[in-house]
Amino acid sequence: MGDKVEIVDVGPRDGLQSQAELIDNDVKLQLINRLVEAGVKRIEVASFVNPARVPQMADIDKLIPRLKTSNDISYIGLVLNEKGLERALRTELDEINAVIVATDTFCLKNQGKTSDRMLESVKNMARLAQDANRFFGVTIGASFGCPFEGEVSPSKVLELVNTLVDMGVSEIALADTIGAAVPSDIRRIVDTIGKAIQETPLRMHFHNTRNTGIANVAAAIEAGVRIIDASCGGVGGCPFAPRATGNVGTEDVLYMLHRMGYSTGIDVQKIIETSRWLEGPLKSETPAMISKAGLFPPEPLSA
Ligand code: ZN
Repeated sequence: MGDKVEIVDVGPRDGLQSQAELIDNDVKLQLINRLVEAGVKRIEVASFVNPARVPQMADIDKLIPRLKTSNDISYIGLVLNEKGLERALRTELDEINAVIVATDTFCLKNQGKTSDRMLESVKNMARLAQDANRFFGVTIGASFGCPFEGEVSPSKVLELVNTLVDMGVSEIALADTIGAAVPSDIRRIVDTIGKAIQETPLRMHFHNTRNTGIANVAAAIEAGVRIIDASCGGVGGCPFAPRATGNVGTEDVLYMLHRMGYSTGIDVQKIIETSRWLEGPLKSETPAMISKAGLFPPEPLSA
């Protein structure tokens, strides 16, 4: 158990992709640069999806060449199929992250394939990405519950984890896409997949749909997970999951982790400022709490 936690800010992709207000590349770039400036080292910036289905990602190929490059910053692009992978491989993105959904109904809606068929597709993509020497992670969506099929058994997730580990993927992320999980679910899944995952880094992705997001982060940390997804301001959703709401807010996660004694290398004050700035382009309030309540102990007033 180390005391360092790695935060992946998924705001520029997961956070923005389902916002009502169309966000242009200049604003996205500003958001990404602010996150870099605050000390975030891994940022999910793109999703290579059909622009007709996700208009927020339509101009993404033009954004990527504008990203500041640096050896210690890793930009992530999401792919849902081979076509997306081809596009991602043509870019300079550091990491490719494929998605598979644990249940058939959701996987069909999200990616047009059943979970088993998608696994075949992920296998192909893993080989292509590995041939291209690219970091290739896989997210298992709806790992803790499906909006269409209900409960998802940890044994189903274990089955997928086993196959992904055999493929030699670079990282596995478990996503609570619809914010159904509670802390005991997190402990149970870590117990279930603990041995199977071997040396593969494990990352967790929580949405705060039912107000259990931050509790789930705490449970994941206590279970030994050291890579956590969050989005600045807690913005987010999913275009294919009914009533999905935001990711856990980066500033909320940082506040909690720092007070628990973990280090992240990220300046929470800069994230708070970014979260407040983001309310401008979004034309709405960001849902994260710390940007409203402020830090504790409070910053001394300057006047
Ligand atoms: Zn998500």
